[in-house]
Amino acid sequence: MVISASDVRRSYGETVALDGVSLDIDAGEIYGLIGPNGAGKTTLVRALTGTTDPEGEVRLLGEDPKRADPQRLGLLPQEFSPPARLTAREVVSYYGGLYDESRDVGETLVDVGLTDSGNTYYEDLSGGQKRRVCVATTLVNDPDVLFLDEPTTGIDPQGRRDVWGLIDALADAGATVLVTTHYMEEAERLCDRVGLLAGGRLVAEGPPAALVAEHGGRPRVEIRADDSDHAREVLAAADYAFVPDERRLVVDDVAPDEVGDVATTLTDAGVAYDGLLWRQPDLEEVYLQLTGQTVGASGTPREVGDE
Ligand code: ADP
Repeated sequence: MVISASDVRRSYGETVALDGVSLDIDAGEIYGLIGPNGAGKTTLVRALTGTTDPEGEVRLLGEDPKRADPQRLGLLPQEFSPPARLTAREVVSYYGGLYDESRDVGETLVDVGLTDSGNTYYEDLSGGQKRRVCVATTLVNDPDVLFLDEPTTGIDPQGRRDVWGLIDALADAGATVLVTTHYMEEAERLCDRVGLLAGGRLVAEGPPAALVAEHGGRPRVEIRADDSDHAREVLAAADYAFVPDERRLVVDDVAPDEVGDVATTLTDAGVAYDGLLWRQPDLEEVYLQLTGQTVGASGTPREVGDE
């Protein structure tokens, strides 16, 4: 086991950040920690990497994390600001200099898609390019284990996909990757296994598809109508059920060949709509089902049900 934690707890005063987390991550796995802001992701990463002292037991590469070989580790903290007055190349080279052995700086920049910006000052790069430089600093020692805390936050969609490709390639080459995210699509696309963290506890763990199959519920149809209260009444009268969602009208349990019936029910009652979106449940639904909270694109937790 490359990373393991057993009954890990950490409180800050009255705030319980981690409330007994156990997990095991194998070599070559991409493991995603998912949860909204405040769920405990960063505290768990800090516990696993030895930058905070938790209760319970943590092993990293078979050692106390404080004694694990830094040469074999890469860590991208959530907040990370390299010196602004260095170029991208100088930043990566500076971090490479902290290790006994490091990779070629030019190659590392190519890996993160920064072929043309090597000589640009860090402060002049776009948000996405800055984050890529930060990712590059964690790769420059060719680590066996990578901890990436929200690696793609602030990166544009194309850049995000580039970073996913990079993480995939690293794992294919044998690296173990722990990534935290509040982007569900990222977790589903990237991770072999995910752990859903809520209030400092792991509420579920497994491959994304298995979690969706077990907890995600049935496919559903999201309706966009000017008068969604009226749409809801009409559908309720026809015995349709709804997924609790404070932002949208979502009809539960609609098979692909039943979407037409939903549309006809609305049209026959004279309800105008501008959109009917059929979709399979995803990890967001799993999280909602298990915690009553949404993770949301912003990462801000939201209770569902209290209007
Ligand atoms: P996440 O990374 O999922 O947003 P965190 O691990 O940062 O969650 O935070 C979990 C909880 O612990 C939050 O309530 C947060 O306010 C609290 N917390 C985290 N770090 C500290 C700290 N250094 N001092 C006080 N409270 C903290």
